[in-house]
Amino acid sequence: MKLHEITIIEEVSRCLLCYDPPCSKACPSASDPASFIKAIRLDDRIGGARLTLLNNTLGSICAAACPSSKYCEGACIRGKIDRPVSIKMLHGYVAQLAKDHGLSVRKTDTTEFKAAVFGSDMAGLAAAAALAKNGVDVIVFTDITSLQTQLMIKFADEKIDSVIIDDGIQNLLALGVKFAADKNEVDFSNFDAVLFASKRSLAEFPSLDDLPRVFFTGELVKGPDNAAFSIKKGNAAAKRMLEYFKEADT
Ligand code: SF4
Repeated sequence: MKLHEITIIEEVSRCLLCYDPPCSKACPSASDPASFIKAIRLDDRIGGARLTLLNNTLGSICAAACPSSKYCEGACIRGKIDRPVSIKMLHGYVAQLAKDHGLSVRKTDTTEFKAAVFGSDMAGLAAAAALAKNGVDVIVFTDITSLQTQLMIKFADEKIDSVIIDDGIQNLLALGVKFAADKNEVDFSNFDAVLFASKRSLAEFPSLDDLPRVFFTGELVKGPDNAAFSIKKGNAAAKRMLEYFKEADT
């Protein structure tokens, strides 16, 4: 048995399997760590990997970049006894397992709606993932060839491996999220809604008058610009957009 394997088993064994787990409640990205920890503990590791992918398409990046001591590990009940369960490490483990086993996120619905996303930070990418998962045809207006570099610069302090960033991008592509580099020639009549996920992307549009319904990632949820909380902002914006599409469909 490898040391790494022993560490995984030791850490999941330290989990108290809390009722109404504070770690999951504290997770901004809705990764629900208690569920994948329980799955590993019950030796359903692939199930745990599936869960983490289902809950968070960008889970591999989130696991590497999340300031977990502020969220899941900060809330972990085990921390009151000795030290918190190493949730961030376990999240990285199941995310890697998902990649090693070629697991990919699947769409849960189909729709006729199309959305344009401007701003390729984690909030924009999380919104794109959530929309695509729910069957919306999504185009993120950014140059995909430079996206990996942009994210590596963004998370320079966390020193995230390019392979991890690429894993997140591949998960988006597997969901059908498209990327387009040229934002100057966008025909907005092709879209039912537009999402602005960064102030910089919004600044490139002097007027929003001729655009379809416009949403912003910061309009519903406000908070820090870290990986996990940005995913929360993106998920909230996508939820609002999906409600709007549903209203428009009735
Ligand atoms: S709060 Fe800590 S001990 Fe409780 S379920 Fe989450 S990881 Fe396990």
